[in-house]
Amino acid sequence: MRFLTIEYAGGERVGVLDGADVALLAATDLVSVIEGGAAAMDAVRNELPRAERIPLAGARLCAPLRRFRRDILCTGWNYWDHFEESKGKRDGQDVDRPEHPTFFTKGPDVVIGPYDEIAYDPAISAKWDYEAELALVIGKTGRSIPVEQALDHVWGYTLANDISQRDLQRAHGGQWLKGKSIDQTMPLGPWIVTADEFGDPQDVHLQCLLNGEVMQDASTKQMAYDVATLINELSFGMTLRPGDLLLTGTPAGIGNAREPQVFLGEGDEVITQADKIGVLRNTLARRELA
Ligand code: MG
Repeated sequence: MRFLTIEYAGGERVGVLDGADVALLAATDLVSVIEGGAAAMDAVRNELPRAERIPLAGARLCAPLRRFRRDILCTGWNYWDHFEESKGKRDGQDVDRPEHPTFFTKGPDVVIGPYDEIAYDPAISAKWDYEAELALVIGKTGRSIPVEQALDHVWGYTLANDISQRDLQRAHGGQWLKGKSIDQTMPLGPWIVTADEFGDPQDVHLQCLLNGEVMQDASTKQMAYDVATLINELSFGMTLRPGDLLLTGTPAGIGNAREPQVFLGEGDEVITQADKIGVLRNTLARRELA
């Protein structure tokens, strides 16, 4: 199933895609459905035949997840060609190829809907960049999750763009939080495809287009650490809970690593897309953030 969140009658409702329609569920928050486990999914299946339906076309989609219990969990350098392309371009913060996945977080206020405007303020940064990523949502509580059980902990998959400010990323020491957490900059969605429908997360074609030009084009087969390994290593001694969102890293082609470099500006359109999921379409629009 494909779960989404839409604006409806002055509030928000959770829906399930049904062809060209959205079947509206009683739930207003998808996290409650995810936390409810198998019983909640049975309730959804019972509710669907009687659910009110509205056309998807014309509906305003919000980010499918809107309530976060913690920061958004993220993976850095998870495609080796991306790790290599950035060598010598990290402003003196180069490191050797890591032997374990690199993790960091983004503040939850970054999240916007799949077609919303990205808040752009040149006073915040001169180096706005894009990062198309496959993201997953945890569905089952676990700590130190074995690799062979890891995919059982995934509730579903979605798309994100880890919009980054490279100068902020470098300016505050060897951390990534600050250059990855600017408010209203990370599109998420357009929906969450449940893990049973999605199938193999290592067989996804992922792209990022800037003003119609393909800038990133890769398969998740190219990940340095596959999704099961990411969950295994991230959960080592650290509980992952239903509703936690994990971004799995971006492939080569980021603007900062190009010759000449390409950075985002007001009016630019960023498209993030993947087969088996869909399309995020976002334009950078001027906001006062500083
Ligand atoms: Mg990223």
